[in-house]
Amino acid sequence: MWKKYRFLLFRRVVQISILFLYIAGNIWAWNFLKGNLSSSLVLDKIPLADPFAVLQMFSAGALLTSNIVIGAVIITLFYALVGGRIFCSWVCPVNMVTDLANFIRRKLKFNQIEKKQPASRRLRYYILVLALILSYVLGITAFEFISPISIIHRGIIFGMGLAWAAILVLFLFDLFILKNGWCGHLCPLGGFYSIIGSFSLIRVKHDEQKCTVCMKCKEVCPESQVLWMVGKKSTQVLSGECTNCGRCIEVCDDDALNFSIRTKLGEENETNK
Ligand code: SF4
Ligand code: SF4
Repeated sequence: MWKKYRFLLFRRVVQISILFLYIAGNIWAWNFLKGNLSSSLVLDKIPLADPFAVLQMFSAGALLTSNIVIGAVIITLFYALVGGRIFCSWVCPVNMVTDLANFIRRKLKFNQIEKKQPASRRLRYYILVLALILSYVLGITAFEFISPISIIHRGIIFGMGLAWAAILVLFLFDLFILKNGWCGHLCPLGGFYSIIGSFSLIRVKHDEQKCTVCMKCKEVCPESQVLWMVGKKSTQVLSGECTNCGRCIEVCDDDALNFSIRTKLGEENETNK
């Protein structure tokens, strides 16, 4: 049981602990983590900032303080090293909502692996560019203005209100309309972190010798296209779209998937795929 859910449990502990620290910073003025996901302060000293939000501020013509720039650089370097979309599976509160929708889809058995995606996963990159253009044209941080991530995160820290509506819309959308609809297709922040994490070091590795092609990994993977090598060849998952959630590793009864450090061999296999 523990082996089957170890990363999932660990991720929930990390996600909830981070939320708790933000709440404690707001209610009891603890200084471990103050602010919100767009801009925070650790121990009243180290600034952290969402680099995509900062890019939108820059496009909108806002004056950037040195703290905001340093915070964005720290976050960018961190995710460039460990994997951009670790933010998605280990930090972002929306992940708990979309994972639940996906879990229910599987239970209701309308979560078959699609032969062809009904919507392009590239949509998130177009939305990313659109958000930057709109920020420039309108002079506001366009995505931040309507971002369900900010609405939900602020709701949890400062009081729910509108956040319930955002949670419900995302949940129903992922449950009934499109599998992994928000995080896997539309979210520009997920797209942004996919780009940042393109060259990161922590990678899932597939061992074809051990694989029995049961496809359990593809069934649970929120970005199943990144597991193109399953049953075909031994190599690493090099796509920045992998969230390093570890679900594929936990559900594999054959020990054919594991975390690893990026190697040259993985890169060669990626170019020859
Ligand atoms: S894709 Fe977007 S909403 Fe989903 S977990 Fe990542 S940042 Fe959060
Ligand atoms: S390949 Fe594995 S670690 Fe990456 S997103 Fe899919 S299930 Fe998560």
